[in-house]
Amino acid sequence: MPEQLESHVDLGSLPKEERLARMRHSAAHVLAEAMVELFPDAELGIGPPIDTGFYYDFRLPRSLTPDDLTWLEDRMRKSVKGKHPYRMAAITKAEAEQQWKDQPFKLDLLSEIEEGNVTQCTHAAFTDLCRGGHVNHTGEIGAFKLTSIAGAYWRGSERNPQLQRVYGALFETPEELAEYEHQLEEARRRDHRRIGKEMKLFELFDEVGPGHVVWLPNGATIRRELMRWMEDLEIELGYLHVVTPNVSKRQLYVKSGHWDHFHESMYPVMERDDEEYVLRPMNCPSHIMVFAAELHSYRELPMRIAEFGNMHRWEKSGQVTGMSRVRIMTLNDAHIFCADVEQVEAEVEGVLHLMEKVYGTLGLKNYRYRLSLGDPENKEKYVDNPPMWERGEALLRRVLNKVGLEYFEAKDEAAFYGPKIDVQFMTAQGKEETLVTVQVDFHFPHQFGLEYVGEDGERHEPIIVHRGVISTMERMVALLIEEYEGNFPLWLAPQQAVVIPIADRHIEYANEVAAQLKAHRLRAEVDARGERMNAKIRDAQLRKVPYMLVVGDREAEAKSASLRVRGGGDVGAVPVADIAERLRKERDDKSLTLWA
Ligand SMILES: [Zn+2]
Ligand SMILES: [Zn+2]
Repeated sequence: MPEQLESHVDLGSLPKEERLARMRHSAAHVLAEAMVELFPDAELGIGPPIDTGFYYDFRLPRSLTPDDLTWLEDRMRKSVKGKHPYRMAAITKAEAEQQWKDQPFKLDLLSEIEEGNVTQCTHAAFTDLCRGGHVNHTGEIGAFKLTSIAGAYWRGSERNPQLQRVYGALFETPEELAEYEHQLEEARRRDHRRIGKEMKLFELFDEVGPGHVVWLPNGATIRRELMRWMEDLEIELGYLHVVTPNVSKRQLYVKSGHWDHFHESMYPVMERDDEEYVLRPMNCPSHIMVFAAELHSYRELPMRIAEFGNMHRWEKSGQVTGMSRVRIMTLNDAHIFCADVEQVEAEVEGVLHLMEKVYGTLGLKNYRYRLSLGDPENKEKYVDNPPMWERGEALLRRVLNKVGLEYFEAKDEAAFYGPKIDVQFMTAQGKEETLVTVQVDFHFPHQFGLEYVGEDGERHEPIIVHRGVISTMERMVALLIEEYEGNFPLWLAPQQAVVIPIADRHIEYANEVAAQLKAHRLRAEVDARGERMNAKIRDAQLRKVPYMLVVGDREAEAKSASLRVRGGGDVGAVPVADIAERLRKERDDKSLTLWA
């Protein structure tokens, strides 16, 4: 007889986290119970709790369908009504192997357990191998819903059989579950991958490679607008733009320390003529070479070297997603070479002001500043130089306080060579991600033996501030797509206006109207297809074009257009010259709202 291990849990007394974990894991048992009723030959994998619910892996005689999920969910609800208690029992490993002899994955799990007793859990007529951690009975599992089916390799290894994973969402109350479903729907609606495809902004091809973004003309237009704007802002602020190679000798990154600290995230080495070359993972060493090209005087500092530089990082294939996590990216990068700590403070302050200005113009609000510190205990991950770290950290804290930005501190988040300020954004998926950073660096100047001639005529070591502002173009455009749900403000919209002739005889006038807009460098086009007017308007709305100018006999006569605004607003007939002027101004002002 198995030994019964019964104990009542007072769920109310547990921390919410643990209570939820128990509910979620218990629900996975109920899912497995339902599954073996649907497929008596189902082979069972494992069923753990996860952040938003639970899953269970199965090998089944056929692929599951959405109808199966509905059936399984109904069957689970029946089990919930039955309030079946979860009973733990201990049996010997030998007994378990006998009992689970037809279940290869369970046998695999058992093979890793030492001799002795193993535990099982039974509710209703269903038994599973299990270490425990349940609610008292099935009536206590909370509000749940089966959400999706996915493929998953046994133990996450491609060498193992592929199983079908059924996911469920589970929360304590129906209200919390509804809130979660609402968030999911919102995330789906805003998902940059879906919108990017619909608006033909970018594409990812298997034959090009995962994380290697192909920017289509529409996406490249948004990218170009952002880059021109940033370059203009930087020129005003005294940045010097440079162009440096994507490929350098490996030795450059050995010297910088990237090779030591970072080579696992780099593309493999290329060998030719007895030399080793690598794709650059960061632009810092390239900009350091720009500074080192000649001996500078203190009068030239701070020297702000900027570039939209390409970086190449071997992100794990499981982590590459859409445009937000890619392997080749273009960063709005700059390295500011400062003479002393006073200059560093002023420059970091300037960068923070620039960030506030840029994010304000883009209408971004969902972000906060993080002061990211090193970890003096971790000599592997970080350069071992405690006084240097203290100096950098104190300095950044001082500037943040001076500028008066709210921030929080986080240990063990620094770059390997120094502390940094990170701009943390909340994505549509509800995840906080680092968009850009400002770093103070006493390390590279030393590493590269950088010098400048001081006021005293002596050689001194500069300090470098590394900074991004609008991040990589890939991440920023992904963020903007989600922020705007594809409804870009006029200045960024790939097509700014579509002129729609009512009949073929109006095409000529439509071309004139478009030419008038183009004369103001507005991106206007004529939809001369043989479609009905309403279909063309609907099409332009789907493509999220800000303005539609409908033209017929009356408009041609009056040199006007009937103006419609993305999202439904109908302004009525307006002289074309006025439309052009108004749109030009709206674009130049980088207005976040359209003609109301
Ligand atoms: Zn269990
Ligand atoms: Zn850098």
